[in-house]
Amino acid sequence: MYLVSACLAGFNTRYDGTNCLDERVRKLVSSGMALPVCPEQLGGLPTPRPPVEFSSGDGSSVLDGTGGVCMAAEGIGLPPDPEAFKAALVRGAQETLRMARAYGIKKAILKDGSPSCGTGYVHCRENCGGHCRVREEAGTFGSGKRPGRGVTAELLWREGIEVAGVDSLQG
Ligand code: SF4
Repeated sequence: MYLVSACLAGFNTRYDGTNCLDERVRKLVSSGMALPVCPEQLGGLPTPRPPVEFSSGDGSSVLDGTGGVCMAAEGIGLPPDPEAFKAALVRGAQETLRMARAYGIKKAILKDGSPSCGTGYVHCRENCGGHCRVREEAGTFGSGKRPGRGVTAELLWREGIEVAGVDSLQG
């Protein structure tokens, strides 16, 4: 059995309340071969929620305590608090790992680019000076990328679970 990002299976778990359905993933779920999970919801974040980027590092550095996140200041009914968001990302990763272990999962198919699920790259905000910072510029998120994993992808990988993007699925 796989663990998959819930948004890839068509569930509206993304920060803006939408999904990024991939038919291959939906079929895995509907045939009982995959468990859909949204780490950010598991971590206690609401949907919709402000989009989050890394202000420094990636999921690995967040787990090690050196990374930072920032978010769009417009928020969605939430006080924009980078430290609270970072804690929620870590909590979601830990809960996702617990679920993966409970189901004996060996491989996760995750949505690349996400601060939680990214498997090959993450979105980042350069020139943050290494500090978590609430960004004022609405609509400028998603413009920067750097190689790395999201917080959940990194934790699963550290715990011996294979993590891959959706392109690893054939057909
Ligand atoms: S945290 Fe993962 S599963 Fe949840 S919406 Fe983001 S990419 Fe999808």
